[in-house]
Amino acid sequence: MPNYTANIRDMQFVLHELLKISGQDVPGYADLERAFTEAVLDAAGKVASEVLAPLNAVGDHEGCKLENGAVRVPAGFDKAFAAMKEGGWTALDCNPDYGGQGMPYVINCAVGEMFVSANMAFNMYQGLTHGAVSAIEAHGTEAQKATYLPKMVACDWTGTMNLTEPHCGTDLGLLRTKAEPQADGSYKITGTKIFISAGDHDLAENIIHLVLAKVPGGGEGTKGISLFIVPKVLVNADGSLGARNAVSVGKVEHKMGIHGSATCVMNYDGATGYLLGDLHKGMRAMFTMMNEARLGVGLQGYAVAEAAYQAALAYAKDRLQGRAVTGVANPAGPADPLIVHPDIRRALMDQKSFLEGARAFTFWGATLIDRAHGLKDAEAEGLISLMTPVIKGFLTDKGFEACVQAQQVWGGHGYIEEQGMSQFVRDARITMIYEGANGVQALDLVGRKLAAEGGKPLMGFFEMVKAECKAHDGDDRMKPFTDPLKAASKQMQAAGMFFLQNAAKNPDAALSGSYDFMHLMGHVCLGLMWTRMAAAAHAALEGGASDRAFYEAKITTGRYYMARHLPACGLHLARIESGSETVMGLSVDQF
Ligand SMILES: Cc1cc2nc3c(=O)[nH]c(=O)nc-3n(C[C@H](O)[C@H](O)[C@H](O)COP(=O)(O)OP(=O)(O)OC[C@H]3O[C@@H](n4cnc5c(N)ncnc54)[C@H](O)[C@@H]3O)c2cc1C
Repeated sequence: MPNYTANIRDMQFVLHELLKISGQDVPGYADLERAFTEAVLDAAGKVASEVLAPLNAVGDHEGCKLENGAVRVPAGFDKAFAAMKEGGWTALDCNPDYGGQGMPYVINCAVGEMFVSANMAFNMYQGLTHGAVSAIEAHGTEAQKATYLPKMVACDWTGTMNLTEPHCGTDLGLLRTKAEPQADGSYKITGTKIFISAGDHDLAENIIHLVLAKVPGGGEGTKGISLFIVPKVLVNADGSLGARNAVSVGKVEHKMGIHGSATCVMNYDGATGYLLGDLHKGMRAMFTMMNEARLGVGLQGYAVAEAAYQAALAYAKDRLQGRAVTGVANPAGPADPLIVHPDIRRALMDQKSFLEGARAFTFWGATLIDRAHGLKDAEAEGLISLMTPVIKGFLTDKGFEACVQAQQVWGGHGYIEEQGMSQFVRDARITMIYEGANGVQALDLVGRKLAAEGGKPLMGFFEMVKAECKAHDGDDRMKPFTDPLKAASKQMQAAGMFFLQNAAKNPDAALSGSYDFMHLMGHVCLGLMWTRMAAAAHAALEGGASDRAFYEAKITTGRYYMARHLPACGLHLARIESGSETVMGLSVDQF
């Protein structure tokens, strides 16, 4: 089974040399000095490789089982969950008022990357709880916060998000789950939710379900939707656990990947629920956590690919096949290792250049979230809203692709389950689907985000790219970065112009190109990250940094991304400018 070791060196580079976090004016950032983050990441890395990674294949093989109405998680998950709680890893960036450690979100992301790489399915139990904690903290009454948050921050109680129903996933306006007001101010919740992650399990004494439901008379579509707290076990006034609520598990889904994560059909049969936030404003309440939740899924996309890449790299160094075309590299052996072959190098460079760019992009996004929350910085809020569908959609598409490439390096052995490469591919696949399928992310990007605030965040992004290129004017070492970045940014602007000129008269023309635009913009964002990373690496080399090999590799890896991936922007633009004629040209019967 593949081993996993957290890439702490690269994380430290991103946090301190690229983002310079301890110098930023965001609350809590001054404490994030290099030695401090090194200690935190080191400790988290040990948990990831020693506690979580050994359970990754166990979770995949065993899956979750429904027995006598209760879900049992794979063997060993309980001990690992207890260890995570004891180490405070589940409460890293939670509010200290409720028992959290109060660290900035960016640190939670770095640690989260390691935990997801080591065992994505396991990490879902605390990940979902984190989302529910954020929702209750943002929208709960003081009494609700006091009742639920200390237990949930400690992960003694876990949380879920219940949106999806059998007939509605993307189109939540269709949802049917009903909430009927009761004389005591509570509601009776009735309906069926499907695909609920961590819907039931034996890791916690209670599960706090956040459920979207409609109160009769609330209006059509998404307008009439409210959000409710529905505990699995009702909580008494003194905080102790009371009677079982009328919530039950209908089924645990048998699915392609993340077998260790219990994906449940949940039946609410007149269950007691409590309104969270304002009546009929449930969608708005859900959307306040959207940037964080979607960034978390984008992170999953590349974090699984990081683990797959490590396994591919180890195999490429070890497996002997063929001889190098430029001369024998391993005369003592019967053949040379795979890594001598240019095509294997291409596959490894594709993965490495994507992963390091994705990490920088995600951590940068996390600093925007910290800035938006901590400083109420409207510019950062606008920028992260624009970036969110790209982080989610682009990084999960490319993360999946990277997992397939890693599997390909293993040849036929990658297709054999016991080697572990197939699990990475199967696990990564869901990231493209849940938390808003990627096609819908592209729709959100082109349909809403580009024009948000009169296009101010988009213009701000173009200015940022321009300023970055200008900062390196006359520096020949930076031309392999700035030239492709300038060209790609122009292509992105041309695509935006095409939408502007065509969307009003023919909305299909814009939406036929939305997926390509998401990818075009993803490349520009990673191109910007690589330009900044290359500049930081050059600065370190000039400053006499001792680990020259790290910085030289950084520059070469970045040049690879710019030379080999940014040209894709031209293809995306050509597709966008071809409009909708061929996309929508067939009648339904002609398919
Ligand atoms: C393992 C797993 C875990 C999950 N966990 C949770 C959870 O914890 N809580 C929860 O509430 N849900 C959860 N989900 C549900 C998930 O979020 C939905 O499956 C997802 O949002 C898509 O909804 P759907 O499956 O109904 O697809 P549909 O909405 O039917 O969409 C089908 C396809 O059509 C596309 N599409 C839909 N509408 C449009 C449009 N207007 N324009 C263009 N394309 C469109 C979509 O992109 C998609 O590719 C989970 C799902 C899985 C498989």
